[in-house]
Amino acid sequence: MKTIAAISTAAAPGGIGVIRISGDEARAVGDRVFKSFSGAKLCDMAGYTCRFGHVYAPDGERLDECVATVFAAPHSFTGEDVVELSCHGGLFVLKAVLQAVFAAGAVSAAPGEFTRRAFLNGKMDLAQAEAVMQIISAQGREAMKAAQAGHDGALSRRIEKLRSDLTDIGAHLAAWADYPDDDIPQVDETMLKTRLAAGKTALKDLLAGFDGGRILREGVVTVIAGRPNAGKSTLMNLLAGCERSIVTDLAGTTRDVVEETVLLGEIPLRLADTAGIRDTEDRVEQIGVRMALDRVKTAQFVLAVFDASEELNDDDRALMDAIGDTPAVAVINKSDLAPKIDRAEIDKHFKEVVTVSAISGEGLPALQNAAAHALKTAELNPNDGILYTERQRADVQEALTALEEAENALLMGMTWDAVTVSLEGAIAALNELTGERVSDAVVDQVFEKFCVGK
Ligand code: GDP
Repeated sequence: MKTIAAISTAAAPGGIGVIRISGDEARAVGDRVFKSFSGAKLCDMAGYTCRFGHVYAPDGERLDECVATVFAAPHSFTGEDVVELSCHGGLFVLKAVLQAVFAAGAVSAAPGEFTRRAFLNGKMDLAQAEAVMQIISAQGREAMKAAQAGHDGALSRRIEKLRSDLTDIGAHLAAWADYPDDDIPQVDETMLKTRLAAGKTALKDLLAGFDGGRILREGVVTVIAGRPNAGKSTLMNLLAGCERSIVTDLAGTTRDVVEETVLLGEIPLRLADTAGIRDTEDRVEQIGVRMALDRVKTAQFVLAVFDASEELNDDDRALMDAIGDTPAVAVINKSDLAPKIDRAEIDKHFKEVVTVSAISGEGLPALQNAAAHALKTAELNPNDGILYTERQRADVQEALTALEEAENALLMGMTWDAVTVSLEGAIAALNELTGERVSDAVVDQVFEKFCVGK
């Protein structure tokens, strides 16, 4: 394989910029551009050591001071010999050094090619490679912890356990089908059903975790709804005052409208402002009100704000009815005033009800907690390993469908062969998830989402 090189730090000026070179020729290429002050050659250095020196252009022009670090195969990120040149982080400097590295024999790395080589060299499986991307794009602590656990192999271990269970069932069935006369214990159908059901539960748990993980990573489209004067703006200000997210562009997506994102505990709320929900004769207002109710219906999450100091009215009831199955928290605001609201009626409509004072901030931790429960992120344990890409979700869904087919085959009294075929389908889907057995097209698809230098 060719020796590749790229700028691995961000395409923006910084204190330090790193050029990564990977491949059999990495040290030789490095020695052609880098001269250490001590006279040591990269080719002679041990892994995990570095030297200070200068980098030069092919014509001998001195480009920059630099620290060169050597990683010896297989103990490097890619599993190959790697040299990292840490230069000053100016874009012009870095491009000039990169050109010198190309002139010295390296070729430009494709997007994600370092991580792809790490995968091909067995340094990590496909799920772990995808976690690299997630670590880089994580916006909150929980998302970061989940990505790190994935990189450490938490998801891979979970998948491996499932796969080995299914393989075990499959092997038993295959032996029975192929050698019915031999001394293999009878297939115990009840046991088989139990094990298939356990597999299905494990897959469903994984799918449930995907939704929660996605909420932590990408946020949730949220509407703060409520009748006029319930305290929506005040609540919004309270949330925005706590922590305002700086970055709203997410990996792989471009958005024309920059949304306001605020963090409610660990959950990024992507907020669309909503006109008050009001029953009115005014035509223009009605359009606004209808739009507000429509938005509540299409939102992924609703904070329904009620005024504790007022009795419930038709606007409040219209809002409660509009929410339906959408995850929601009832926020009974103005807890500092004398209560008039019928709490029991709200309790009937919402699983999560909190009392807050948006003015003083009292009750905010309870609101964070309620949101985490309503959106099921509270149940997530990143260390268990969660699904974090659509590709992984699709593989798990495919495995689940295959197990359901296996169960049906069993129910309909079909041959063990039919059950085995479905089981093998489930195993194949899990193999694809971790990249154990996967087509080049899928691998291409995974890495084309990476940036150059990763
Ligand atoms: P919106 O129309 O739903 O956006 O309501 P606002 O946020 O504008 O609040 C309406 C009024 O209620 C304002 O005068 C707020 O100061 C007041 N308000 C909001 N939250 C509270 C609260 O927790 N306690 C009290 N006493 N007043 C509040």
